Amino acid sequence: MSLRLYNTLTRRIETFQPLAPPRVTMYTCGPTVWNYAHIGNFRSFLFEDLLRRHLEASGYRVFHIMNLTDVDDRTIKAAAEGGKSLSEHTEPFVRAFFEDRDFLRIRPAHVYPRATTSIAAMVELITTLLEKGYAYIGEDGSVYFSIAKFPAYGRLSQLDKRELKVGARVSSDEYDKDDPRDFALWKAASPLDEQVGAAWDAPFGRGRPGWHIECSAMALSEIARFGVKTLDIHCGGVDNIFPHHEDEIAQSEAATGEPFARFWLHGEFLNIRGTKMSKRYGNILTVRDLKEEGVDPAAFRLLVFSTHYRQPLDYNDQALEAASEGVRRLGEFHERLSEVAGEAAGKEGPATGVVAARVPEAVGEFRRQFKEALDDDLNAPQAVAALFGLVREGNRELDRGAWGPEDAWVALAAFREAMDVLDLLPGEPEIDQEFRAWVEAKVAERQAARRVRDYGRADAIRDELRARGVELEDTPDGTRWRVQRGAGTRGAVQ
Ligand SMILES: [Zn+2]
Repeated sequence: MSLRLYNTLTRRIETFQPLAPPRVTMYTCGPTVWNYAHIGNFRSFLFEDLLRRHLEASGYRVFHIMNLTDVDDRTIKAAAEGGKSLSEHTEPFVRAFFEDRDFLRIRPAHVYPRATTSIAAMVELITTLLEKGYAYIGEDGSVYFSIAKFPAYGRLSQLDKRELKVGARVSSDEYDKDDPRDFALWKAASPLDEQVGAAWDAPFGRGRPGWHIECSAMALSEIARFGVKTLDIHCGGVDNIFPHHEDEIAQSEAATGEPFARFWLHGEFLNIRGTKMSKRYGNILTVRDLKEEGVDPAAFRLLVFSTHYRQPLDYNDQALEAASEGVRRLGEFHERLSEVAGEAAGKEGPATGVVAARVPEAVGEFRRQFKEALDDDLNAPQAVAALFGLVREGNRELDRGAWGPEDAWVALAAFREAMDVLDLLPGEPEIDQEFRAWVEAKVAERQAARRVRDYGRADAIRDELRARGVELEDTPDGTRWRVQRGAGTRGAVQ
């Protein structure tokens, strides 16, 4: 069975077929680096990571482009407020974004074009649109796209033209445009733009790009290396559909005369404890917050993949706890399989090319279900269910001694293939010095309590340690301790 994806453009699930297989060009709208990206943004990036990994596991050669929006209204405003230049303001957030991406084990895109270093491509695209009559210079010196010249406008968002017009009029107090629906391709430089260094010379006047033209120009110039003008896949969050992606289509197709993207995929929102994440509710969470709370990145991935990307996801304590427990079980199963398969701890997995004489039924069934689930419009919750089915079945077979080393070996290979896509094994706990000192002191305190037969106190200390993920083992040589995978073991301990 082949991969089928829901295409926002047609509102249908379609069989995926790239322009020139096995190559797949994939453009994903990246972060606006005015601030830290929040976990709602990262939900989108994780759905895109899943898509990318599943395509790669299916034999496609993906070329992944993610842009960085480092000039727009918000970045300019934030830079001005901080008394900084645009790049001084955005650079730390670019670094933070890459750190957060790595923390969540998201595969890096092949290129990260930045808006401020792609101005030439934008100027060229706007020039073409002016020449072809799709754009005009408004009375304020800005360049606008003329929606009236592009009849296909509204196809992606399927908003009624009248509706668009009325909506735009209500919120519009701009009189420099021919039509209130028209959007800016290039904004004439303002004193604030000049102040932060966000203005560039262009044949049509000094200014800066609009957000939408940034994505069109960067996408088209990156895929020009393959001699094409059409992306195989364009992704983003549902909030990007209108106007951002609608405008990207209008600009790109008006300029090239070819479809801009074959497949449009959009990820749904993430809510926090049943509430929309917003500044107004003060409930915006970043990856930095997750790190501080000691959340295992694998647990966050599992939490995200437990809901289909086209369904709203709720981030709450119970869901996070369940995901942490799930990740712990996966880690245990992986260790158990590795042991039975006769591997030394920490060694690489089964060598490739090992041909199994016999594939245990549970493993064959798992492989089939896993691929089928992801081929079905990336049904990650179903793929995750198949994975835990394998854990259950595998543990049962191992318990009754039905799986020998070769069975475990084959199961391990299948399990690791799935991990190549989902990447859910618990992280090695990072134990910092502060934490280690705290544990050592507690262990010594417990020893002292036991010596004076204060077992109540000794047990209380054991419980306290367990609550922080530390397991104790009393041996003839003294007490040993180890930290469970996935436990939060950093920072000050009260
Ligand atoms: Zn975009």
